[in-house]
Amino acid sequence: MKELIARLTQSYGPSGQEGEVRRRIAEEIRPHVDGLRTDALGNLIAWKDAGKGPRVMLAAHMDELGLMVTHIDEQGFVRYAPVGGLGHLGLPGQRVIFPGGRIGVVAAERVEDVKELKHEKLYIDLGAADRAGAPVAVGDVAVFHRPLETAGTRLIGKALDDRVGCAVLVEVARRLTSSAVRAYFVFTVQEELGLRGARTSAYGIEPDLAVAVDVTATGDTPKAAVMEVSLGKGPAVKVKDSSLICHPEVRQALEEAAATAAVPFQREVLERGGTDAGVIALTRTGVPSGVVSIPTRYLHTPSEMADLADVEGAVRVLLAFLSRSTGA
Ligand SMILES: [Zn+2]
Repeated sequence: MKELIARLTQSYGPSGQEGEVRRRIAEEIRPHVDGLRTDALGNLIAWKDAGKGPRVMLAAHMDELGLMVTHIDEQGFVRYAPVGGLGHLGLPGQRVIFPGGRIGVVAAERVEDVKELKHEKLYIDLGAADRAGAPVAVGDVAVFHRPLETAGTRLIGKALDDRVGCAVLVEVARRLTSSAVRAYFVFTVQEELGLRGARTSAYGIEPDLAVAVDVTATGDTPKAAVMEVSLGKGPAVKVKDSSLICHPEVRQALEEAAATAAVPFQREVLERGGTDAGVIALTRTGVPSGVVSIPTRYLHTPSEMADLADVEGAVRVLLAFLSRSTGA
């Protein structure tokens, strides 16, 4: 799975420009599903039609954070607007990449006090001599430029949020040989901008129940906000975040699936943040929804850290869930 996660995290795909990620996922999943289509907004929807059971939608988002060019000055320095919830503090010194492969360095203006550092004080240096030599245009979007690396069982890289979830869905599709449900594997667009792709894809699919697979924060680092979730202690079954109270029957079914698969799991209450499940749950007349989360440190930075055992655990929980779920 590590190789799959590496292939997916290395693909370029800021919100609204998920084409490269979508093509890569389509290649990976096509041999393992009965059908595949891309909807009007760019969501990739794959399915397995086992029988006439309920429709179960699994969702993971394809998009990653980006930096959109807003202005290029006479010296060729680029100002940007964040695409998604990008923190400014860790940015100076980071490398970013534009489509076509042009690398830039994020740098900061000189400030008296670090508190003055905001996105407006940062810029991207492309190494250009002047504006005419800057090989980018207003509206172009850069993403973090980092390889996927490992430290023991830990994965370290950019865009683990949520390519790791996409990898889980691909792997579930690959290993799922029989189930009583019609499983939809949905790779959504523009989650980071407000769960946009999940809204339209769920409307089209009309699922009977849904599970989003996404990363979640942890409470296991020095002076972290208090939170029960730790890295390496199993995938998390969400109880609540700011977008959703998970449907109790879906949550219970996920916990039972974890027990069946003998996968240790953690219960997650995330006080700030949400996932695609938040809007899927409110589709049409309502869809019982839950979330399986991959505990991940340093979210929305170029060095997100997750544990391969938690990822593998999430695959096994979902396989057990699909084998048993015959309705919420
Ligand atoms: Zn995410």
